[in-house]
Amino acid sequence: MTDTAPQLDGWRHVYSGKVRNLYEPAETEPGQSETLLVVATDRISAFDHILSPGIPDKGKILTQLSLWWFERLADEIAVPNHVVSTEVPAAVAGRAMVVQRLSMFPIEAIARGYLTGSGLAEYRANGTVTGIQLPTGLVDGSKLEPAIFTPSAKAEVGEHDENIPFAEMVHRIGQEPAEDIRTKTLELYTTAERIARAAGIILADTKIEFGTDADGVITLGDEVLTPDSSRFWDAETYQPGRSQESFDKQFVRDWLASEASGWDQASDTPPPALPDEVVEKTAQRYREAFRRLTGRAFD
Ligand code: ATP
Ligand code: MG
Repeated sequence: MTDTAPQLDGWRHVYSGKVRNLYEPAETEPGQSETLLVVATDRISAFDHILSPGIPDKGKILTQLSLWWFERLADEIAVPNHVVSTEVPAAVAGRAMVVQRLSMFPIEAIARGYLTGSGLAEYRANGTVTGIQLPTGLVDGSKLEPAIFTPSAKAEVGEHDENIPFAEMVHRIGQEPAEDIRTKTLELYTTAERIARAAGIILADTKIEFGTDADGVITLGDEVLTPDSSRFWDAETYQPGRSQESFDKQFVRDWLASEASGWDQASDTPPPALPDEVVEKTAQRYREAFRRLTGRAFD
């Protein structure tokens, strides 16, 4: 994926994920810098494939929305985050931030306040989500009270992330960090759910990532509470028992899974290109999430 990361003066490209390109200051020894430049591209992924084409302005929306949340949450909860500065090269203005380099835990910290997606699939099979027993009779979109913490293990490149029981997370990263991350994730979810609700959005679930800083302090990294990492549902039309109106990438997942795409998820073939209409409607949804949450139009 290195071919998709443009050269930036003063920065050395170190890594590309499905969506972001990471750089370190060129004057530092490789791997030794205290900071990183994280650039969110317009790439979109679904079912662990990078799709084409990109979604116009998506990288800027993700970055601006994450920054908005980092600031908003800092007033509400005592979880340090990795943001250092938004002074970035002009070529990536608006879509990048300078962050503290963290040593990331190989875990996606997921909180679910509503049952859907991979959680619903496990519930239908076993009555549990990551081993947590849930009441019987729940349907797609049922509210979970209280919200639950359902970690997944970050997969190696090309593999799929895998939901794991909390005990497995403890085994992988240790009891103390696992408990700390669970507490912080549920606290963040509860706070953000309340803020989103006031903006007409149900935060159904969200995924965050933590790492440790140079002093070993557990710190919130990556992006937070964006339409890539969260499910945002329209509070007004919400109704359990069916899929919900959403302002996130569910629209893309649904199109890929539909007959219209002609794609078999189980096959080895890469997904087809997204039609203009799907790209446009997805872009609209990302903008709408930004507009509702922040109260201002994305420009
Ligand atoms: P993968 O890393 O498996 O490719 P992804 O496709 O979600 O996952 P991106 O979101 O595109 O990856 O890239 C962001 C990468 O940067 C992630 O691997 C994430 O863990 C890492 N990351 C985020 N914040 C920091 C930080 N402060 N320090 C170090 N790494 C970070
Ligand atoms: Mg990511």
